[in-house]
Amino acid sequence: MALCTANDFATDTGEAFLRPGDRCFLCGEPLVGDVWAYWQGADEAGTQIWLHPACSKRLADALNKDWLQFATEHPEKLCLTH
Ligand SMILES: [Zn+2]
Repeated sequence: MALCTANDFATDTGEAFLRPGDRCFLCGEPLVGDVWAYWQGADEAGTQIWLHPACSKRLADALNKDWLQFATEHPEKLCLTH
């Protein structure tokens, strides 16, 4: 995950790489403001998700909660590399 500001779009590399969405991946509200969090997917399309910074915290907490539940309920299936 990385944080991005409107200034990051001023560079050539930023314009080529960063493709901000119109709405937050988590809450669905418009991405207003001038700083956001984004993740770059590992798929061939380079899917990016964009979030409000506070929503990135909520998503990270939810993913961690899911992981803890999985680790508790299925410890035999844990694989720390995938
Ligand atoms: Zn949001």
